Amino acid sequence: MGNIIKAVCQCGVESDEIYQAIGFRFYETGTRTEPAYCDSCGIVVGRDMSKSFSKCPQCRRKVKFYKEGVEENDVEKIPGLATDDYLDEKEQWHCPRCKRETLRFESLGLWD
Ligand SMILES: [Zn+2]
Ligand SMILES: [Zn+2]
Repeated sequence: MGNIIKAVCQCGVESDEIYQAIGFRFYETGTRTEPAYCDSCGIVVGRDMSKSFSKCPQCRRKVKFYKEGVEENDVEKIPGLATDDYLDEKEQWHCPRCKRETLRFESLGLWD
């Protein structure tokens, strides 16, 4: 269960649809997709956060997760459980292309 989201920025950055959060097979696979970005390529992608090293599909460097910055500050978490709400905490996020805080996540719907 989770959200289908998409990252857009006024500079023209647009991600593919990202199927956020854990899948129904989470307890088998531990897979957990969250939006991440590559500052070198200026792209936003959905990546499996349970892996220790998530690569950019273009340059193969490590991507950064938007969630990482949030978890440090605010919310106390139960390890391993997805919390989908963190994207609501800020309206605008770091854009890997124009390097401003002008990226938004649009909700395209729910999936299960
Ligand atoms: Zn890259
Ligand atoms: Zn931008």
